[in-house]
Amino acid sequence: MTSDQIDLILSYPSIPTLPTVAVKLLELTRNPDVSLTDIEKLVLSDQGLASRVLRTINSSFYGLESPCTTIKRALILLGLNSVKSLVLGFSLVDLTKNIDDSAAFDYEAYWRRAIYSAIAARQIALVTSACDSEEAFICGMFQDLGMLITYLVLKDNYADVLAAAGNNHEKLAELENEMLGFDHAQIGAAIVEKWKMPSHVIECIRHHHALDKVDQEHKNLVQVVALGRSAYEALGNDMPEQHMADLLCHSQEWFGQGDQDIGVLLESIAVAAGDLAAILGQDIGELPDIQAMLSKANEQMTMFTLEAQQQVEQLRQIESDLNQQVDTDGLTGIGNRKKFDRMFTMQFEHCRTGSKPLSVLIVDADHFKLINDNHGHQAGDAVLVGLAKRLSDCVRDSDTACRYGGEEFALIVPNMNAAVAEKLAGRILKSISDVPFDMSGVEGVSEKLSLTVSIGVAAIDPADPDRFESATQLLAEADRALYAAKDAGRNCVMVFNPNAKADSPIEEAASASEEVSSPPSASDSGEAPHIILVVDDALAAVLLHTLFRKLPGVRLSLFRNTTKTLAWLQQANLDSSNDQLLILCDLRSPDDQGIEFIRTLRQNCDLQNTPVVMVTTSDDPEVKQDYLAAGADVVYHRLQITSSLSKWRQSVFSLLSRSPAPAV
Ligand code: GH3
Ligand code: MG
Ligand code: MG
Repeated sequence: MTSDQIDLILSYPSIPTLPTVAVKLLELTRNPDVSLTDIEKLVLSDQGLASRVLRTINSSFYGLESPCTTIKRALILLGLNSVKSLVLGFSLVDLTKNIDDSAAFDYEAYWRRAIYSAIAARQIALVTSACDSEEAFICGMFQDLGMLITYLVLKDNYADVLAAAGNNHEKLAELENEMLGFDHAQIGAAIVEKWKMPSHVIECIRHHHALDKVDQEHKNLVQVVALGRSAYEALGNDMPEQHMADLLCHSQEWFGQGDQDIGVLLESIAVAAGDLAAILGQDIGELPDIQAMLSKANEQMTMFTLEAQQQVEQLRQIESDLNQQVDTDGLTGIGNRKKFDRMFTMQFEHCRTGSKPLSVLIVDADHFKLINDNHGHQAGDAVLVGLAKRLSDCVRDSDTACRYGGEEFALIVPNMNAAVAEKLAGRILKSISDVPFDMSGVEGVSEKLSLTVSIGVAAIDPADPDRFESATQLLAEADRALYAAKDAGRNCVMVFNPNAKADSPIEEAASASEEVSSPPSASDSGEAPHIILVVDDALAAVLLHTLFRKLPGVRLSLFRNTTKTLAWLQQANLDSSNDQLLILCDLRSPDDQGIEFIRTLRQNCDLQNTPVVMVTTSDDPEVKQDYLAAGADVVYHRLQITSSLSKWRQSVFSLLSRSPAPAV
């Protein structure tokens, strides 16, 4: 901004000045040794002001236990700065009264912003202890004074800028610079400088839209006031989540305060702002209904969850239909060879590592060719369908019956030893040979057709789990046994190595437990669990923050990008062997950023073992693989987590106590 422009604005004849009492008060308080008696005298010199100060002090805003009847006592009870901020607040009200009301300048909106921002800054200063709360209050209240002054001087020219910015205050400063060559922060700073306000107020106002330019001395104050603005925007905005996320992230980044209850904080700000507006006699419109706002956010979350659930259901259905098609034999409707191969390899590994028995049975129709030859191919098909049905009826749900090919079937029977499998094979044999197959659906075949089968059995004996190196070897032995049965005259059962009769009873498969560990309490470990959320989407950030806040005794930190997280981790000097730390990333940014992030974490020897949970919206299985390869402990699809939020939260939490991660 050129000095010509600033001079032009400042030299405007009807620029308001501070009331005399305020000017004198600022003068007196520049002396650090000022006596309270001098201040008392000054305030009492304006009776109207003195009674407004006392009314304020006795209002719910200060929440004093017993009434305060004198300015002297107020100064002792609340301190010089509280009284000073009130006097300056009233001064601002008085001086704006002299500015013409006009449709082009929304005074109600101006005051709403000033009051909410001032209260929020004060509240946040108290919570963070980052700066003096009364200084934060004054800066919050006066930060946009430049808007009033600019409007007063430029009128319609400025009204155009205001109209162009709409409700977006950050954009207003940009547009001012573009369209006018200066912004309200610079004008405000020049005015309060002229009024001889304290230097930190001047600097804070000057930099309230240029946080990166503020010097170290005033940084905390400027940041607290910026948080106050975010709180105001969160309260007054139709889409509050962006500002809530800003508030949470910046509280964490700037002051290490990542786990506040956003609902409680906003509620307390709204109530205090209502009180202050009444005291200052300013109309700031209806108080925002925080509960309604939060329940709207909840509603959004529920909608989001429901939608996701529906999508999950649809996807599951499609997936299971596809799997069904891929795994099913077209003629008989039981599993096909592909399913057999997959299930058999899986069960083989599972039973061998779990030291459990596993049996496999190969069932082959005897002289099946004759059925085709004598009664036609259709009759042969009908017999195969009937045969598959009888096999399925003979086995448990946990077993797998498949058509291995042609007239040959295979059964996988986990947790069953050879001796019991032999008995099962005997029952199958009987169920087939005893009852001829019905041919009523087959044209030209009037009689029922009899059939026998031969069965080969092989089994893993838990006492000798290494006997078979692979599933293929086990199957080859069952095949050998089948040939032996054919050789022995058919319609019989042969068991591989019949001497190795296992005698353990049938063990039922243990159903996979879905239980997850409960959150470890801080006292379990001596350390408070600390979850670091890295979430770049505003709504997701607020929702995840809200979700994890509910866990007792948990410390939360929220970051919106990986760079800031890494910088913070570096600074925080955390050690995964001592800290109960977990990093949870939900990133919309390109996946390679997430991968790079995990790699960097893993290269840091202090964080090598810290659990890292990734959430992705990608359906590409390679993304998941890449995350895992980079060092993530577990990768969830966004849809997986929203289908049961609290269950998912527990699963994530269980990683903190190093209990086994639930299957994903
Ligand atoms: P064995 O007792 O030695 O097993 O004699 P088999 O006749 O059962 O064995 P072979 O391998 O000589 O003949 C199998 C027959 O099964 C030949 C083939 O046409 C028939 N077959 C294979 N798949 C199907 C099918 O899907 N439908 C019908 N109808 N027949 C089939
Ligand atoms: Mg501003
Ligand atoms: Mg056969």
